[in-house]
Formats: sequence, C-alpha cells, structure tokens
Amino acid sequence: MRLLNSVLDLFLRSNCPLCDRPLQGDELCLACQRRLNDCQQPKSVQQWQGTPPLFAWGIYQGDLKRAIAALKYENQPQLARPLGYRMGETWQQSPGLPKSLVVVPIPMHPEKQRQRGFNQAECLARYFCHLTGFSLAPKGLKRVKNTQALYGLTPQQRQQTLQRAIALGESFQRRPPRHPVLLFDDIYTTGSTTREAIALLQQHQIPVAGVATLAKTQGPSRSRSTP
Ligand SMILES: [Zn+2]
Repeated sequence: MRLLNSVLDLFLRSNCPLCDRPLQGDELCLACQRRLNDCQQPKSVQQWQGTPPLFAWGIYQGDLKRAIAALKYENQPQLARPLGYRMGETWQQSPGLPKSLVVVPIPMHPEKQRQRGFNQAECLARYFCHLTGFSLAPKGLKRVKNTQALYGLTPQQRQQTLQRAIALGESFQRRPPRHPVLLFDDIYTTGSTTREAIALLQQHQIPVAGVATLAKTQGPSRSRSTP
C-alpha cells in the first residue's frame, strides 16, 4: 500500500515548469519565484511613461523571458496566475496610476487561439483584474486577420501586416466601456500592435488610458516605435 501511494505520489506530484524541481503546491518552486521577483523593474523606471503611457512590470530577458515562453509555448497557462498577480500587486503599490479602468487584452486570432488553447494576455489580465478590481473586457477587441509573428519585421512591414488586423469586439460593439481602456499584453516590443488598437478605439470615441505589459523588450525599440 505504501508503495502504491508513493507510486501514485510520483504521478500526481508536478514539477516546476521552469526548473523541473518537485513542487510544493504552487505553480513555481521557491527558487524560481525568487528569481522571477528579481526580474521586476525598479519602480522609478517601470511606470506610466511615454505616449501612450506604458506600465511594464519587467524586462523581456532572463527568467521572465523563460517564464513567458513556458506559459505560451509549453502549454503552462497556470503560470498566468503568479505573473498576473505580480503585475497587479505592483500596480496597486504604485502611486499616481489611474483608478477606474476597463482592461482589454490584445486579442489573438481565433484560429491561433484554438491551436494554443488560450490567449496568454487574457489569462494574465484576468489575475491582474482580480487584484486591482478593474473590469475585464476580453471581447472588447477582436483580431480579424491572422497575422504572422511580428518579431524580426521592419517597422513598415509591421504596420502593413497589422493594418485592419484588429476590429471592435462584440462587447464594445454592443456598448462602449464606461471607463477608459487599459490595453494589456504579455510582451511589448515596438508598440505597433497597441498603436493599431488605440487608433481603432479612438475612431470609435473610446478613450485609452494607456498600456500595461508584463515585459517589454530592452533597447531603443520604444523610441523607435514613436512615429
Ligand atoms: Zn523552479
């Protein structure tokens, strides 16, 4: 019986998706949780800068990059909980950020989402909203064009690819949001996708407060992204 139990234990116990050590019930082992905490940007550079204002929890590198890859490409959607909560915690601890917002995840094309099984931006946003109390509008926007990955494209190519790729979703078609929109994504690179979304929302007289992202890529991409 004891042998059977330990065999069952072996099957039921899961391992940390980042380092493969046995887990104690959380989504990540303690060592990986600590390493992830170290990925948080200093508050002074994290917050609400630029046009549109951008809130970026961390830099897209190291353990944070690894965690996002595991979430998206290794089918570990449970990682959205610790990551989304970290964003929400930091948001709540930061003075001067807007208080009443409707969070709109950058949508995935339905076909791509069917393949992956989830939209990671939406999963993260859900936990972010749990903590901040903001309402979530997962169908505020929809993707109507199945674009290829934008990584590695020139700014012009990105713009062409993204043209009319995003449309107003069912919920905003029925009724515009009551509060300004906070666009929400897992990774912020040049901002071309969010700019496309902002332009669309503005066409429909829907105000956008800014953008929140788990990680932004380092380097001159942000300044290059400003037209
Ligand atoms: Zn670990």
